[in-house]
Amino acid sequence: MLLPNWFLLQAPPNLNIDVKAWKKLAWNRVQLLEKLPNNPSQVVRDYFPSYDEALNQIYEDYRLGAYLLRLVAATNSRLESWLIEVEGDLFERLYYDRTETIEEKVIIFRQVFGEENVLKYEEFKLRMDEEKNEYLAELYQQYHTSRSRTKGDFLLCVHFSKVPWMVSKRKGYLRKGWVVSNEASFRGVLKKAFEKKLEEEISKSQDLLGIREDIDNIVQDLEQDLSKHVQIRSQYSGGELEGQDLLLHPEIFPPCMLQLYFEFEKTGRLVHVQRLQMGFFLKRLGMSVNEQLHFWYEKSVDNVGQTFSEFQRTSGYQIRHLYGLEGGKKDYNVPQCSTIATGYFCPFVHLAPAVLIEFLKENYYTTKKKLKILNSHLNSLISVSSSNPTQACSQYFRLVYNRSLYRKIVHPLQWTRFAIKIEGLSSPQEPENKPKEE
Ligand code: SF4
Repeated sequence: MLLPNWFLLQAPPNLNIDVKAWKKLAWNRVQLLEKLPNNPSQVVRDYFPSYDEALNQIYEDYRLGAYLLRLVAATNSRLESWLIEVEGDLFERLYYDRTETIEEKVIIFRQVFGEENVLKYEEFKLRMDEEKNEYLAELYQQYHTSRSRTKGDFLLCVHFSKVPWMVSKRKGYLRKGWVVSNEASFRGVLKKAFEKKLEEEISKSQDLLGIREDIDNIVQDLEQDLSKHVQIRSQYSGGELEGQDLLLHPEIFPPCMLQLYFEFEKTGRLVHVQRLQMGFFLKRLGMSVNEQLHFWYEKSVDNVGQTFSEFQRTSGYQIRHLYGLEGGKKDYNVPQCSTIATGYFCPFVHLAPAVLIEFLKENYYTTKKKLKILNSHLNSLISVSSSNPTQACSQYFRLVYNRSLYRKIVHPLQWTRFAIKIEGLSSPQEPENKPKEE
């Protein structure tokens, strides 16, 4: 059984291609990756038809486009972090939608974890001399007669060194250095391992740089274009506020971020998780890492007496981490409201009613008429605030802007996107169906 043709981890066999045509293939890949969050299944149907020899050229072009993006990512850590994330999402979707047989799935697992680290259940029993292991037989029996078993799922064995998270959480049956579990339970770690492999491939692709001038030039061009493009993509999905002083538009901040912003302006301090919450948000508004370094350096009272260079060496690490430039190199997103309610700061959950009322009345309201309307709704708003903060927040939004929402606010960026649209600052796309978890 062959590796499915959509699996594009390895470099193309040859690079005899006109560099301009190559650049176009890379942009085609960017477009494909950008369409994915809106309708993943449709993207798979449109771009990745089931295998047919006549489609070989299409898949070859995908491989070339994907490879040029890796070369570009090798020169820019922010792009690297973006590429790993979006290619990881595409891999996950293709694995779900385009691997039909057990054989195909095992091949993908072996490509990602290594040939020697993945065994099918029968192979494991034979190779590990486990034919008489009654627990294993019982596990197989239980699993194959379970009503909750998902169609197409099967038992798989992966070497413990490849799935440390599953070992630490004791997911599956641990036996002779292997984790035995159903295939579906390995999917999360499979995606992570794919992303790790991609990171290695990006690093390897650097070997091609500095050899051919035409390739170096096209990589440099694309790096500049893509940096702007990816930056824009991270702002309101539209980017029309690029270059504007975002802090001159606090009305587009949802209540949680506005309260944190005022608190920081007033005291020069925020606790760690609140700094993270603000930092994720400012990043998604389009603040560059440098702008954010200056923002925290200039306003925080804890930096008094520190030079900017000292600040960069100490607190700067955390800020670069937010951008995926340190540590695990993950380009974090703003948490959803449900996560904020339990681990960060949401005024509807964390402020006492009297303080919350003051905050709601003092901000966003510019006319007496609006304030009067708010006053008449305050009781109902406060009564649901702590038990259902997103409902209270959506209700408050309607009062502030006198507009109906077609969907309840479940993510801070939703507030911002709607507000920008109403304020006429830009015409952003609709919010994503499902905001990303941090
Ligand atoms: S409900 Fe969400 S958007 Fe609204 S204030 Fe709370 S965390 Fe922010």
